[in-house]
Amino acid sequence: MDTELENIRNIGIIAHIDAGKTTTTERVLYYSGASHRMGSVDDGTTTTDFDEEEAKRGITIYSAAITCHWRDKTINLIDTPGHVDFTAEVERSLRVLDGAIVVFSAVEGVEAQSETVWRQANHYKVPRVCFINKMDRIGADFEQTFDEIKSRLEAHPIAMQVPMGAGSAPAPGYLTGIIDLYKMKALYFDPESKGADMREEEIPEEFQGLAEEWRSRLIEEVAQLDESLLEVYLETEDVPYDLFQKTLRAATLRGEVQPLFCGSSLDFIGVQPILDAVSDYLPSPLDMPPVEGDDPSGKKQGKLKRDCNPEEQFCGLVFKVVTDQHGEFHFIRVYSGTLKSGSRVLNPRTGKKELVSQLRRVQADSREKIETDEVYAGDIIGVIGLKDVATGDTLCDSKHPIALENIVFPETVISMA
Ligand code: GDP
Repeated sequence: MDTELENIRNIGIIAHIDAGKTTTTERVLYYSGASHRMGSVDDGTTTTDFDEEEAKRGITIYSAAITCHWRDKTINLIDTPGHVDFTAEVERSLRVLDGAIVVFSAVEGVEAQSETVWRQANHYKVPRVCFINKMDRIGADFEQTFDEIKSRLEAHPIAMQVPMGAGSAPAPGYLTGIIDLYKMKALYFDPESKGADMREEEIPEEFQGLAEEWRSRLIEEVAQLDESLLEVYLETEDVPYDLFQKTLRAATLRGEVQPLFCGSSLDFIGVQPILDAVSDYLPSPLDMPPVEGDDPSGKKQGKLKRDCNPEEQFCGLVFKVVTDQHGEFHFIRVYSGTLKSGSRVLNPRTGKKELVSQLRRVQADSREKIETDEVYAGDIIGVIGLKDVATGDTLCDSKHPIALENIVFPETVISMA
């Protein structure tokens, strides 16, 4: 694994049921896979076309974590349960991810379940970007959904885009594309473009006023996030792109704001900008504070801390166990150190050492579990060969034991109080 830590994104897609989480996940995987394949001309895999049928059917990968590539980033997409009633499961996934895309339906807006998930994400201080989906549906209302996110979730969404129309063809005024408010460009998706970026054009006359109004809001809001940027803004009435991006990223990581995007994942409208947003605004493992745990023997008082550093002593958290043809497959978030295949690690809960027989990563573009020799702090990996290991267990270097999890995850609802 040669990805630099700063280029890793461990993220989840969370949503109210039916808002389009599955569709968005599949589109993101498909789109990044298509462009990844297109980008690698020499590896002989370019024959895979942007197949309409396949895209419609979706990849439908049910995996605890799946890896895709976008530009220079490696994105580990961590599955979050669709039924938020299984609060323990949601909490478990929120704990191991660093950032999230929250999907809303432009038709239904913010619903009770969205509030629950949002509060849980607040609890774990998960930086977020928002995606208002289903803009192609009749009755889709961007502004109302945006306002509801503000009022019902007490959130601070920053609209990066506005839709051009709503509802689907051939209704008059239907959704044709989206406007990038910083660049002041209209973006269109061409199904033939096979994973290439959305097509950029001048904003049509009829949306010019709307775009200008939202752009002023965007620039003003971002300028106010940083004093020196505000000075620049007051002088020039605009903000340079690099400062804009830097300021917005920092505020998103602090949890002060949530950049907001829109489109229709079903039609791939807005999928590429969300991937860019994951890369631009959501944290890398290096942005995360050190993980804390206890001395399992109870001898050392106070919290033990581990940095996200491959040179540190290894520790990781098992967040999901699935069974497949290879037997049990344990998904682990590696928080510190390096985990090597063939090594032995301690499970402080049982006091036993476990053999790490194989490390495997689920790749979105090949849809295979690729074997790897070692994995570093900040990454997510599947392990084969563990025996007496359950969800919520820590695995660590036996000479430097640490127990990360103080919440034991029962298969019942954990109170948020
Ligand atoms: P989940 O329950 O959040 O995973 O939602 P799904 O992805 O399963 O979507 C629920 C339904 O909404 C499915 O019938 C999807 O085809 C549909 N859907 C999802 N996204 C869109 C969209 O952008 N536009 C339209 N028209 N339908 C969508």
